[in-house]
Amino acid sequence: MRSARRFSAVVAFIVATGWPMVDVGAAARRQHATHRGPTPTLDVPLQTRLLVVAPHPDDETLGAGGLMERVHESGGRVNVVYLTDGDGYPEGVRNEDRVESPNAVDYRGYGRHRRREARNALLALGLDKASYTFLGFPDGGLAKMMRAYWSERRAAYRSPYTRFDRPPKSEIVVPDTKYRGEDLSQELALIIGDFKPTMIVVPRKEDQHADHCAAWFFLADALTDVRRVHPDYSADVLNYIVHFYSWPFEDEESRLPPPPGLRGGVSGWLRLPLTAAETRTKRTALRKYVTQMHVMDWFLDGFARTNEVFSRPAAVRVRLPLRRDVCDF
Ligand SMILES: [Zn+2]
Repeated sequence: MRSARRFSAVVAFIVATGWPMVDVGAAARRQHATHRGPTPTLDVPLQTRLLVVAPHPDDETLGAGGLMERVHESGGRVNVVYLTDGDGYPEGVRNEDRVESPNAVDYRGYGRHRRREARNALLALGLDKASYTFLGFPDGGLAKMMRAYWSERRAAYRSPYTRFDRPPKSEIVVPDTKYRGEDLSQELALIIGDFKPTMIVVPRKEDQHADHCAAWFFLADALTDVRRVHPDYSADVLNYIVHFYSWPFEDEESRLPPPPGLRGGVSGWLRLPLTAAETRTKRTALRKYVTQMHVMDWFLDGFARTNEVFSRPAAVRVRLPLRRDVCDF
């Protein structure tokens, strides 16, 4: 169980900031009803308030860079929440720093480097510094925080890379936040309460990177908290996917097909066709991730195509902590 203290804080914040009592999920249901073809197109309403949940810097552009451009161009607002700084990537640090055995200082420096790249990528998409929030949770540790490191009843998780057990001061949204699951859920709930998104994009739980899978559960848990206070609220929740077997590299098409063997949720797979200019801008943004281009340019380039694909989950009812590992790929 989460502590009453923490939940009360969420409730107090959401009530204090006000909340639009609108069921934006109805828009999604209408769209579902009017698109029965095999590849329906994602409708992006004017003035959408888009929240993108990115486990690591680059996921937001890989999965939804074109959507972010579209929302921005249509008069909407974008907020990208980076759950981690992507600092727990030994191969990347070795490659970047030319050190055989990176230490905590190397990993921390790598995280700062990736944050700078994320800012540059968002700038390339036309988004300024009001468009992102870094939370600084542990790269590679999110799934463990859904279970073993959930509450303050035990010591917080400590990153084996940076040796941190809490986010850097500059990235803490709620005082006393440490690497505990309920702390991350609480920060996400507060961000949702503050930003009031009408559309939320988050990785699918079937994404085969444990941090991505965990991102889904944390977002869903935070939404469950928000809805306990405002039961009529719903946003159009969409899933993107980055890691799924060898998808999307089996083909050289310019179009991005949905991952084979994975069902498209309640709406079927939704395509977002990008204009030539949007595709070019997305490719430019991906190239701002210089550290990642150095180790896997083929992977990033695989997503620079003429469309993006999304799906809608059947339900967003999750209560953390979990009793078993579900993101153990
Ligand atoms: Zn990632």
